[in-house]
Amino acid sequence: MNKIYLDNAATTPLSEEVIDAMVATMKINFGNPSSTHSFGQEAKILIENVRRQVADYLHVTPAEIIFTSCGTESNNMIIKSSVEHLGVERIISSPLEHKCVSESILDMKNRKGVEVSYIRPNEKGDIDLNKLEELLKASDKKTLVSLMHANNEIGNISDIKKIAELCKANNALFHSDTVQTMAHMNLDFSDIQVDFASCSAHKFHGPKGVGFAFIRKSTGLKGIITGGPQERSLRAGTENVAGIVGLGKALEISLKNMEAYTNHMQGIKDYAIEKLSAEIPGIKFNGRSSEKESLYTVLNALLPYKNPLIGLQLDMKGIAISQGSACSSGAAKPSMVMMMVLSEDEMDTCTPLRISFSHLTSKEDIDALVSALKEISKDFVIENTNVEHR
Ligand code: PLP
Repeated sequence: MNKIYLDNAATTPLSEEVIDAMVATMKINFGNPSSTHSFGQEAKILIENVRRQVADYLHVTPAEIIFTSCGTESNNMIIKSSVEHLGVERIISSPLEHKCVSESILDMKNRKGVEVSYIRPNEKGDIDLNKLEELLKASDKKTLVSLMHANNEIGNISDIKKIAELCKANNALFHSDTVQTMAHMNLDFSDIQVDFASCSAHKFHGPKGVGFAFIRKSTGLKGIITGGPQERSLRAGTENVAGIVGLGKALEISLKNMEAYTNHMQGIKDYAIEKLSAEIPGIKFNGRSSEKESLYTVLNALLPYKNPLIGLQLDMKGIAISQGSACSSGAAKPSMVMMMVLSEDEMDTCTPLRISFSHLTSKEDIDALVSALKEISKDFVIENTNVEHR
């Protein structure tokens, strides 16, 4: 069976060039980067080259890039250390955040008594920045705002430049989970005054188990993993040299091909919207995912019937797709994001499906998905096309 992969927001396949670069590193540059002899120093140089490359991409200094094991670790570190080391007493966030952000915030609330305010998004998944400003002005407590750049389920993109300006004007720190946009978009942090951001290499054809945190130097954030002086003492532990090299290679390929990849994926997404709308009566799209301003990698569809087995049925037809974030897709409950953008009627009678693309996705993949969905849909009475879409 020819297998089709449409779950690129969960993870992406590794590029051949990334694998080659990592294998070469593992074979040749096995030294410990903290060792002072040549084996160690050669490994160290590889890490510093990638740090410089990342810093150039983001228009920041290399000292502001801290390699970690993943997006989850980066977000944990930023949120928890802001509270523990920078005296943050209040966090403003939204229910749309990835679990690694929302659970870190909850942990700080429960263990450290941090005050937390959530801005409820509207039915399209938009955060009202007037509400943010109102909340920022409402208290003198040291505040961290944590709002993601692009949502991993509905692809909504927030205006992080504007949010950063509001935070600066009100003396608040600003963290943005940029896991879904790093290496997919040009990001200039000399212009966007975000204080903290996060990255995960496996979202752009790099390896799993490696990422980085951007930590603006002026914040003075400290690490939460203690031990040796690696990563300027912000993240102890011998570095994942091959992983970091893989991250660098994946970033290089993404940046070199950004325009072509973006155009290709936007074209595939447009095609998917057109085909699904024409072939699946009553289908709708969630959040802003079908609009041009959303993330070109994500399309969140709403099938007009309830079918909790959809993921399994598509998998049996060779199509890998998810119903939401990989972290919550095993859960029986709908994700928090879906609870925000779907009405109760829709949650009871419809099925969300997150289709996510990469530069490897073809129109034939979309055709196969549409014909599989048509086949599956035949077994369902479509009785709820009149359900109001939020
Ligand atoms: N933040 C967002 C928006 C994500 O989509 C993900 C992964 O799904 C993460 C954070 C976590 O990244 P990692 O898998 O590297 O821990």
